[in-house]
Amino acid sequence: MAWVKIDDQFTEQHNVQEAGPLCMALHVAALCYSTRLTTKGFISFSAARRLIDFTGIRQDGVPVELQGVIHRLCVFGFWKPCEKGWQIALQDQGQEERNSAEYRNWRYRVLSRDNNTCQDCGYQDVGLHVHHIIPFAEYPEHRTDPNNGVTLCADCHGQRHGRRLS
Ligand SMILES: [Zn+2]
Repeated sequence: MAWVKIDDQFTEQHNVQEAGPLCMALHVAALCYSTRLTTKGFISFSAARRLIDFTGIRQDGVPVELQGVIHRLCVFGFWKPCEKGWQIALQDQGQEERNSAEYRNWRYRVLSRDNNTCQDCGYQDVGLHVHHIIPFAEYPEHRTDPNNGVTLCADCHGQRHGRRLS
């Protein structure tokens, strides 16, 4: 057995939040598949169909289609189409930054200031996210400014990014 490496901020990443839970699930399944079969990130058309069975799963009342989930993974930069399927793209460039002591300190300061409470709905428990009010990618100089951070639960974080949850 080998291990699949996922950045411990993976679930908070903006592109993961925007892509949504189905993409997150399929991407993790693809990472496991690719590591298990040492495909170097390549997912063939037939392999993609076997990663996760979405039968019976509905979103906004509509049955989930694998092609739609894969399309979102491509739109949000997790996968890239290639000749006989898809290639898992490299993790985003923000990963190293997020693992820095400065970033972790920023995150801790925001969570402490907000009493580990979602500032939109008051949720208090495990799995809180720290959201960058002005975008992480576009304004690197504000990445570790505590005034540019707000504590949110996963649902409210998704909503700030415009993802509707039914
Ligand atoms: Zn919330």
